[in-house]
Amino acid sequence: MSFYVWLDRAFPRSFPVKVFAVAFLGTHVPLIAVVLYALIQTGGIAAHLDVLALLLAATLTGCGGTLAGLWALLAPVRRMNGAIESLERGDSIPPLPDRHRDEVGALMRLTNLMADSMLRRQQQAQTAAQTDPLTGLPNRRGFDARVPRQAPGAILFLDLDHFKKVNDTYGHAIGDDVLCQAAKVISGELRRDDVVARFGGEEFVIWLPGATRDAAWNAGERLRLAIAGSVRVAEQPVTASIGLALCDAEDRREAVIARADAALYAAKNGGRNRVVERCEKADGEPFAFAHDRVLRAV
Ligand code: GH3
Ligand code: MG
Ligand code: MG
Repeated sequence: MSFYVWLDRAFPRSFPVKVFAVAFLGTHVPLIAVVLYALIQTGGIAAHLDVLALLLAATLTGCGGTLAGLWALLAPVRRMNGAIESLERGDSIPPLPDRHRDEVGALMRLTNLMADSMLRRQQQAQTAAQTDPLTGLPNRRGFDARVPRQAPGAILFLDLDHFKKVNDTYGHAIGDDVLCQAAKVISGELRRDDVVARFGGEEFVIWLPGATRDAAWNAGERLRLAIAGSVRVAEQPVTASIGLALCDAEDRREAVIARADAALYAAKNGGRNRVVERCEKADGEPFAFAHDRVLRAV
């Protein structure tokens, strides 16, 4: 290292310049030797000018070729440098060639391994940050990452009924089991492009991309019936209330979620185990509709 440290004092900013300095000195050794020889010979340098000129031309040409070769030889080092900088910025990198068996080849293999494990750890951390550990569903962060901010479709805000009583009567562990049952039933009822997330507690939010009013109502009713039909605690059915809100292309996701939440509130007040849609009247005043679609005065 000491030679490197010594050279680093002279050329602190560039490794190629250090290599070139060594190459420059190395390729000029014959010239220096002949100059010294000429100096101690009778007649001095003047008597050997032709040989010295020839040698100078030869060493400069040799030096130029050596520097060009070394620059090309340092290409893998430059690529590794660029790759590590890209990794540092969080970008993915194409794999470096890993079939070479010398030290630089080994370094490129290690760089590839490091890039793979960094990418894997990044993905694991991202997945963990976006996943609810109890049910395995996306959490709110996962929902935000999967659902567009503005797009036509529908939001269902689903909340299990009297869930606190389940916890209080049967304990938290049984409550957790009910949450997992509900998550499984909901996931099983949805299409591949739909997104369900556990927003917290016993609340699940479902995004139905491109859903029409009828499709959203069908999905809401299907979920409600599936939960009442399959989720059990001590053989007793567990029910859910669902708030429904439609969004057109201009609606912002957060506003639609808030509308669905307000509809859920109306579903709870209306007696639970029902779907309620909340729409805006033409004058912008909020309006909640009963779960019976026939009664809706749209
Ligand atoms: P409502 O029908 O009005 O929705 O009543 P509720 O009892 O379902 O609603 P409330 O908000 O009063 O209670 C929700 C309960 O959910 C309270 C809380 O202890 C429980 N809870 C929140 N997160 C978890 C969890 O991860 N596991 C379990 N077992 N319970 C949870
Ligand atoms: Mg509840
Ligand atoms: Mg709740």
